[in-house]
Order: sequence, then C-alpha cells, then structure tokens
Amino acid sequence: MKEKLEALKVEALAKLQEVTDPQVLNDLRVKYLGKKGELTEVLRGMGGLSAEERPVIGQVANLVRSAIEEIISTKQEVFQQQETLGRLQAEKVDVTLPGRSLPQGGIHPLNRVVQEIEDIFIGMGYKVAEGPEVETDYYNFEALNLPKDHPARDMQDSFYLTDDLLMRTQTSPVQVRTMQAMNGEVPVKIICPGKVYRRDDDDATHSFQFHQIEGLVIGSNIRMSDLKGTLNQFVKEMFGPSTGIRLRPSFFPFTEPSVEVDVSCFKCGGDGCRLCKQSGWLEILGAGMVHPNVLRMGGYDPEKYSGFAFGMGVERIAMLKYGIDDIRYFYTNDMGFVKQFKGI
Ligand SMILES: [Zn+2]
Repeated sequence: MKEKLEALKVEALAKLQEVTDPQVLNDLRVKYLGKKGELTEVLRGMGGLSAEERPVIGQVANLVRSAIEEIISTKQEVFQQQETLGRLQAEKVDVTLPGRSLPQGGIHPLNRVVQEIEDIFIGMGYKVAEGPEVETDYYNFEALNLPKDHPARDMQDSFYLTDDLLMRTQTSPVQVRTMQAMNGEVPVKIICPGKVYRRDDDDATHSFQFHQIEGLVIGSNIRMSDLKGTLNQFVKEMFGPSTGIRLRPSFFPFTEPSVEVDVSCFKCGGDGCRLCKQSGWLEILGAGMVHPNVLRMGGYDPEKYSGFAFGMGVERIAMLKYGIDDIRYFYTNDMGFVKQFKGI
C-alpha cells in the first residue's frame, strides 16, 4: 500500500508540474483529492490493515496529500498572478493618446442679448419679473389705459383665443401684475423680458412672434431726468462708453409724456453709415412717465407716486449689434447661422 501511495505521489506531482491551464489544474485536483479521487480510493483500503500498519500508512498518506495540495496551491497562485497581469495589460490606458473633442454649444443670440440687458439692470438694482404669455384683455390693454374702443389697439393686431383671452402683444401686462402684487409698496424696480405676439406677416423685419424687454420704476419723486439718466447708463454699458441718447416726443397710451429714444450709432460714432441710414442715430426704445391712469389701476395714487417705463425689442437690438439683416434667421435654427455665435 505504501508503494501504491508513493507511485500515486510521483504520478500526481509529475502531471501537476506540467499544468499550464487553471481548468486542467482543477480537474487534476478532483482526480486525486476529490471524494472519488485516487488518493481517497487508496485510503479506503486501510480498513484491511493491521493496527501497527495503520498509523504508518496514515502518515504516508498525509504526506502525499499535503505534497499534492502544496503544488496545487502554488500553481493556483501563479495562475492568479498571470490573470491579474493579463487584465492589467488588456485594460492599460494610453495617456498619450490625444483626447476626443466634444462639440461645444453656444448661447442663442437672442438669449445672449436678453442676458446682457438683464445683467446691466440687475446691476442697477432691478429685479426680473415674468408673466403669462396668454393674457386677458384687461391686463394686456385695459389696465394699460387702452379701453375697448381705443384706436391704438389697431396698432397691435392681436391673436385672440376667446373674446377675452389673447396672446399678449407686449410684456407690459407683467408691469400691471407686478404693481398689483406689490400692493402699493414702493419702490417698484423691475424689468420684464419675454415673448410677445402680433398678427404680422413675417418678412425681413417683422415676425408674428418676437421678444421684448420692458422696465418699470415707481417711487416718490421719480422724474423724467431719472429715466434719461437710467437709459443713458444702460446704452453706455450695452453699446460702449461713448454712446449717447436723444429723446424725441412720441405717443404711447400708457405713458405721458412719451418719448422715442435714439442711441448714437455705435458703428460710425454718429458720423452716418449704412447701419444708421446716414442719420448717426438708431431708434431702439420707447419710454415715458407712467400714465396716471396706469398707476391708479396698478394700485398707486398718482398724486403721491410717479414712475417711468421703457420697452425695447430684443431682435432689433440683436440685429443692430451683430449686423443681422433678416429677423427670420433667429427662428429658423440654421446651424450655420447659430454656430457663428459660439463663444462670442
Ligand atoms: Zn452709423
């Protein structure tokens, strides 16, 4: 029996030594040490041994077993190291490879202009206010001193949804809503950016949908000179420090007196060029002192408080600023057009 065990050991060690594959190693482990393995098989015959022989054979059997186990575990370790090395090799990152460039987006020119204007007024202490695009006739017209039969309503052909609901034709309803929400508190100092809608046929300078930004200030002793100073500061920040403004009398139902505000041409500095049609001035704003009726409907006593308001078209400013000659470019999502504003 001892010889059998020795022979088994020699055979097993020789085979195990040559193993190069973890699966084969496992098969051999089962073959020799498994429940039905060859070593177990030999030991089963120990029952027929004498009491003296048994411990001797037992010891030999243990030595054979541990010799086989040892070589198996050494081999397992080697295989594990090889596997780890192989994986490291396979997953190696080449840090010298050039990176993949991701496409960089840009901000749409209209949003860019809105953000720029917002920044300037926020810097002067204004808050940004927003309101619904579907408005009631009351907020869009009546509360702005445009009663039902007012001829100025014709200037703003509207999209009516019902007899009383329409797509807002201006951002001014936000002014009324803000005044009412302020409950007579002062100061009111807001700008309202947003989309507005008019029944215009689209062409190079008209669109049925465009953007406005309006401003409203209400407080004690607010005067025309405050309006002028504010707008002067605004255009200098928006178009350059040498830009100036001029006011021309005008008419709007919601302001009295009303003015058109021209900015000195930032392209030619006032000398006259194609952009300003040789006049040296660009018309960009409407403004005025808030009409007493509008103050009253907003919940403010015109005897006690006064205010100014102004409004401008975002598209017009973007067109002047970036030299764009067709308003439709803003909405057609032509990538060639939009991409030009990347990173400006
Ligand atoms: Zn000019």
